[in-house]
Amino acid sequence: MRVLITGGAGFIGSAVVRHLVLEKRYEVLNIDKLTYAGTQTSLEAVRDAANYRFLRADICDGEAMTRAFADFAPDRIMHLAAESHVDRSINGAQDFINTNIVGTFMLLECARAYWSALEPARRHAFRFLHVSTDEVYGSLGEEGLFTETTAYDPSSPYSASKAASDHLVKAWARTYGLPVVVSNCSNNYGPYHFPEKLIPLMILNAMEGKPLPVYGNGANVRDWLYVEDHARALDIIAERGRIGETYNVGGRNERRNIDVVTRICGLMDSLRPRAMPHDRLIAYVTDRPGHDARYAIDATKLETELGWRAQETFETGIEKTVRWYLDNEWWWRPLRERYSGTRLGLPGDALKTG
Ligand code: NAD
Repeated sequence: MRVLITGGAGFIGSAVVRHLVLEKRYEVLNIDKLTYAGTQTSLEAVRDAANYRFLRADICDGEAMTRAFADFAPDRIMHLAAESHVDRSINGAQDFINTNIVGTFMLLECARAYWSALEPARRHAFRFLHVSTDEVYGSLGEEGLFTETTAYDPSSPYSASKAASDHLVKAWARTYGLPVVVSNCSNNYGPYHFPEKLIPLMILNAMEGKPLPVYGNGANVRDWLYVEDHARALDIIAERGRIGETYNVGGRNERRNIDVVTRICGLMDSLRPRAMPHDRLIAYVTDRPGHDARYAIDATKLETELGWRAQETFETGIEKTVRWYLDNEWWWRPLRERYSGTRLGLPGDALKTG
């Protein structure tokens, strides 16, 4: 099995690469532009593996993608490359439009040309998995869950760009017959998560005795998915998902943001005690504009049709994650120094930065 993955130096992509290279023993080509969010240090475990190779390239570069398809001759594409941070999309959406929409279009076109020329057996087996987000569905009230048939209603430039890419992928299936599968997942967490995202930011600030900034009143609910559970789900969906279908991936772990932060504080109190309890560092800050109130995934289709189950509960996953950050300063320290810590995504900033 030869898998071409995009965005494999990012948070979820690197978990997928480690899973495919080390456990599944697939031949893997990782294509990544190495933006601020991508780092090869997340791939130390596979760097010297004979079944792994890396290509630094932009998915918007059609010539480079065409060459990569021809040289590597993949059986399967797993497309994860994206601009992924909502707050950054509020400050400036151009990169989100380029990579998430134009880049996905470019990859679809290269995949279509490559797939059309395959001999019948390989053409039949070929799959293009597009990895997307539950944020395309907008916000939930206190009740209900997102299912695969929930109408799209994105709130942020990020989620709108992902929604656009999902529509392109589905259209390439209907119009050209490209064998695609789409997955929409909830918020991931776990090792190798870029330090500006909520969970790592809280762990690292708590470690350093810095304020723990919670947006608004902290009541926004997210449905947390451990990244290694997600990596397994993506492999299963790419392998056995029905062509043209969408599969929602979620861990059945809804938590209010403030409860996530409080749990991290509790773990830090026992693993790295300070004079004062860590929850004294919590500081409520101005909310994100257009902040969706609640996301929650119904993963029944993936569970019943393809037999996937999340192995981590939020309790087991968050403890593993906190311990990982405590033990792996070599990984996060250089990234944390590169990331300024300036608050992103405040109203008005978009006007200043264009
Ligand atoms: P990430 O930001 O950590 O990684 C993205 C990777 O894509 C980086 O390595 C980056 O260098 C690369 N990249 C960006 N632009 C590129 C380009 N033009 N060409 C080639 N490579 C490029 O993102 P992530 O959290 O790992 O998310 C992976 C995918 O999963 C994304 O498509 C995202 O929309 C989706 N997703 C993420 C979450 C989450 O909680 N993190 C939730 C739902 C969906």
